[in-house]
Amino acid sequence: MKCRHCGNVLQHKFLDLGFAPPSNAYLNAEDLHAPELYFPLKLHVCDNCWLVQTEDYSRSDELFTADYAYFSSTSTGWVKHAKHYCEVMTERLQLDHDSFVIEVASNDGYLLKNFVEADIPCLGVEPTDSTAGAAEELGVPVMREFFGQSLAKKLLDEGKQADLILGNNVYAHVPDINDFTSGLKTVLKPGGTITLEFPHLLNLIRLNQFDTVYHEHYSYLSLHTVQRIFSAAGLKVYDVEQLPTHGGSLRVYGCHADADRAVESAVKEVLLAEASGGLKDLTTYKSFQQQADKVKNDLLTFLLEQYKAGKSVAAYGAAAKGNTLLNYAGVKPDLLSFVCDAATAKQHKFMPGSHIPILTPDAIKHQKPDFVVILPWNISDEVMKANVYIREWGGQFVTAVPQLKIS
Ligand SMILES: [Zn+2]
Repeated sequence: MKCRHCGNVLQHKFLDLGFAPPSNAYLNAEDLHAPELYFPLKLHVCDNCWLVQTEDYSRSDELFTADYAYFSSTSTGWVKHAKHYCEVMTERLQLDHDSFVIEVASNDGYLLKNFVEADIPCLGVEPTDSTAGAAEELGVPVMREFFGQSLAKKLLDEGKQADLILGNNVYAHVPDINDFTSGLKTVLKPGGTITLEFPHLLNLIRLNQFDTVYHEHYSYLSLHTVQRIFSAAGLKVYDVEQLPTHGGSLRVYGCHADADRAVESAVKEVLLAEASGGLKDLTTYKSFQQQADKVKNDLLTFLLEQYKAGKSVAAYGAAAKGNTLLNYAGVKPDLLSFVCDAATAKQHKFMPGSHIPILTPDAIKHQKPDFVVILPWNISDEVMKANVYIREWGGQFVTAVPQLKIS
């Protein structure tokens, strides 16, 4: 296999999680009697451009049959994050009713609705029909398409170029990252800005976040690599921010390579942090499997100990990362009896692979488990606050990443 960015032959495995079903392929009760499709879950690192990427495999088109759609508005923290972003960008880029904003993967309009309210013209690009429909109900114009060079040219032909193009948690999910980046260049006005948010590879490695690896997530990005991909497309990174979202993300600011914009010192600082974190050193990547295995083994040991002691263990948050962790560890309902989730679309379904039932959050109150494992560790504070009543029966919270913690 060749690197999706630079074409170099990939020779170094970064992580092998075996085989797993698609992380969002939640099952109905009747599906439990049917065979389940498992896909290889392996990552490689390119020793030329350092892009960490999933391995290609056949029948990948069958991956996206899951009918589950995530609505961004269900996370109050994320909605706040989006509102704040719109205020800051409006001020920083002096956006007004003559400007034009494009959001790639605009989901249910959780972000663009802020620009609609501020009377700043905008357009969402979103292929998922259900979320696009929800955005339109908020007055957000949406094109139901995948973003890439071909759509960008279509927009350009219609005279549409943006002062701001943003993509939150989409850059790591696109199979053809070069084509996507060329598309950004095409629809960007001469003085325009691109912002992209994605989980930072440095945190994945430093904080053992191997459970954020799943099939739909094609690339695991550092600033160093993004800078190279931008440069190859005629763009440059002029600023970067480190955000606490998704366990530590980067927000990069890009513009045309020849634009008259000074590169902020933050860019150099993050590049230095990446270099000292070993992101340009093959040994860093080669030792990651061991780190992941330790997290997996510690969780398994904990669950087996509770099983032997006759204690009950449940989980909170039927998140994609939970599926990666539980499937890699081979956890089944005998060790973890149920998972609660506030999203009604997931309730009364089953986790893919592990077949652990997903119940409403009330189930914790009724069944009083001794331990509640918080699978989406990135929102563990929020989950602990909402479920603090487990202390009434001596319940304790558990997180597995970056290391097993009982509190
Ligand atoms: Zn490469």
